[in-house]
Amino acid sequence: MIGYVVYGRGCFNQLDEILSPQRKGDAPMIFLIDHFFNGKPLVNRIPLRGKDIIIYADVTNEPKTSQVDALAQQLKNEFGTISGIIGIGGGSTMDLAKAVSLMMTNPGSSADYQGWDLVKFPGVYKVGIPTLSGTGAEVSRTTVLTGPTRKLGMNSDFTPFDQIVLDPELIKDAPVNQRFYTGMDCYIHCIESLQGTYLNEFSKSYGEKALQLCQRVFLEKDVWDDESDNQLMMASYAGGMSIAYSQVGVAHAVSYGLSYLLGTKHGIGNCIVMNHLEEYYPEGVAEFKRMVEKNKVEIPTGICKGLTDEQFETMMNVSLGMKPLWENALGKDWEKIMTRDKLRKLYEKL
Ligand code: NAD
Ligand code: ZN
Repeated sequence: MIGYVVYGRGCFNQLDEILSPQRKGDAPMIFLIDHFFNGKPLVNRIPLRGKDIIIYADVTNEPKTSQVDALAQQLKNEFGTISGIIGIGGGSTMDLAKAVSLMMTNPGSSADYQGWDLVKFPGVYKVGIPTLSGTGAEVSRTTVLTGPTRKLGMNSDFTPFDQIVLDPELIKDAPVNQRFYTGMDCYIHCIESLQGTYLNEFSKSYGEKALQLCQRVFLEKDVWDDESDNQLMMASYAGGMSIAYSQVGVAHAVSYGLSYLLGTKHGIGNCIVMNHLEEYYPEGVAEFKRMVEKNKVEIPTGICKGLTDEQFETMMNVSLGMKPLWENALGKDWEKIMTRDKLRKLYEKL
């Protein structure tokens, strides 16, 4: 779990005070910021001291192991050691910050640690500051990376942030479509967790709260206001806590295949898949469709048209490799239910 959490409008202003006891001599703090903020006022509010630097994270594509390794190497070459790393951005930037923190202290490549509990040593001090709400990356024990052979997280007890700063003012200007796709990631986490076989009271308590907040902002309210940003930020937190003690399910397992082959982004990829999952989550999918309609967002279709057999095989291999997700969704006998044939037909529908 996260060591320290601050929440509230404007709490970003406490960052200097939060970081100061964590500074080790003159070793710098590294502020890894989503490139969207380059030239924006937020950059002027970053509490730079001594040798601290800002690095803009290029999140045009979702994080890769090669990108993590290069960033960690750059910091080792330039500074030897650092006091900490602060990731400010959406799920991609937060995941990059988590992974770079771990690779400052663990040997080899981040690709060596894609899987469950492979990371050997705690990383350097790390802080997460979301500027989009939904992924739950601010609380999760994983950092999702695309590596040479797979898209899989570094899932470990060393992966969660030491501190998070949840300031709903930072998500105010997110574009409507992006806010929806990332917000739906949270909604889908709730459905997959609450309908999953791994469910327990811990996950259920957080999942139900997150679901209720998603329904409030995406269905019940007629205008998007500050309260919506406040609520969606807490939905993301609670949704992340819900899957921390359970798992995601069919939408994520299928969407990982799309992302690996076609580079489809996580939020929109989950939406593309969710649109066709009536068989697995009938109520969730019906409500999802109402949210799409109410928020006037387009969900792309026909993205698998014209793919070759080999490409379908690649997506299916990535997807079926996510065993815990399938087991959570369909139970211990999932392989009998989700046959390759059935999965192929599902991909063809997307
Ligand atoms: P993102 O971080 O990929 O960002 C999407 C786009 O929004 C980018 O172009 C970014 O520059 C821009 N952006 C970010 N903040 C903005 C703001 N306030 N205003 C305007 N634009 C802004 O999007 P995401 O949906 O938050 O994250 C997706 C990533 O999170 C994927 O890489 C996925 O694998 C990862 N993820 C991780 C976990 C986890 O537990 N670690 C869980 C779910 C998803
Ligand atoms: Zn997700």
